[in-house]
Amino acid sequence: MPEEILQPDKEYLLDLLRKIISFPTVAPPGSNYVEIVDWLIPLFKEMGFATQKIVMPQEVFAARCSDSRLVGDRINLRADLDVGAKKTLVIYAHLDVVPAEGAWDSDPFQVVQKSGRVYGRGVSDCKGSIAALIATLKALMEKGRPKYNLSVLLTTDEEVGGYSGLCYLTDLGQVKGDLMLCMDGFCDDVVIGSNGIITWDVVVHGRSSHSGSSFLGINAVERSIPVMEALMTLKKVVQDRRSHLPASTALEAMGKKNVMPILNITMINGGIKENIVPDRCTLRGDRRVIPEESMDDAMAEIERTLKPLDVEYDLKFYPGYPPMMVNPDHAWVAEVRDAVQKGMGFYPRLSGAQGSLDQAYATEKTGIPTCVFGVGRQMEANIHGLNENVRVSDLMGFAQFLIELLRA
Ligand SMILES: [Zn+2]
Repeated sequence: MPEEILQPDKEYLLDLLRKIISFPTVAPPGSNYVEIVDWLIPLFKEMGFATQKIVMPQEVFAARCSDSRLVGDRINLRADLDVGAKKTLVIYAHLDVVPAEGAWDSDPFQVVQKSGRVYGRGVSDCKGSIAALIATLKALMEKGRPKYNLSVLLTTDEEVGGYSGLCYLTDLGQVKGDLMLCMDGFCDDVVIGSNGIITWDVVVHGRSSHSGSSFLGINAVERSIPVMEALMTLKKVVQDRRSHLPASTALEAMGKKNVMPILNITMINGGIKENIVPDRCTLRGDRRVIPEESMDDAMAEIERTLKPLDVEYDLKFYPGYPPMMVNPDHAWVAEVRDAVQKGMGFYPRLSGAQGSLDQAYATEKTGIPTCVFGVGRQMEANIHGLNENVRVSDLMGFAQFLIELLRA
């Protein structure tokens, strides 16, 4: 018997997207989480899901979310559907968006449709995927049931690298299942890995004096030069390494074949006046860690590099998300790629992200095999920029991919 044609309703999907975008869940500060979650809950309930608002308690917020720009309640949504299947699929996306400042052609929180695209803050990152998911579930539930039990997680503060969303749910034991789809991605490739991130700072110490007799002091800005030189020498060594993970299609087009580690100095701050010898200079930067490296080794390597220098300094590390690498031969990876082929009409490459993902934290702690695949194209969507957009055909294609992935 031929497979029944199952399709998402385009108008319904676009209506959902319009409504979801109209909640300015901008982070920082992370606003309107209550409003959007309260609006989403009835939609999931109507489809038979059990919903749960997972609110981060104030004391956890105070202890773990030190970012003073964040204000208000942190409310995550978990929606579960038990269809009696053997396996549970966890589907994750974040509800927050980056601020939408600057000269947009239209109101970023009112979706505009123009020449086959929709524009609005978050249409690609990653509210388009959420609208597509709900439209997909509606189409599926009208005809039957999905083939997996589902656990949908819609979370907060991803855009500020915050703890209150997926990481918090992971530590609570709320990320439970056998397979995971992270929709915070692009539809160019299926992403199965990412870099870890460590931020660091080094404070170079000196001794202040009158600049006219600077030989009486120790100039911390000048002493930071050998520190920077040592880090630049290390940068070459680090950035000669390559991961086995292929780079994204977008980067491959620029000649980058594989994911690579990175070391950057991105900030420098020292001195208070031209005629005062500075007693302090602070350098800050980050280190992106490929899955074949370890976070600890990366930190030890920087320590070893600076140790021989005849400079007084304090070095601190702030490890963020770990790297991620899912076995490319896992059956789940093949299943996702096949669904892309059926739903979107192309067989996607596997690749890794140069950036770092909160998904990696969940994947590391739970061990659930994960694929990252979402709406939007890396070189077109202008995420985090002006006039963020997505092709209507990609929204529909992504929904069709979800239907192929979930249909019984
Ligand atoms: Zn995102």
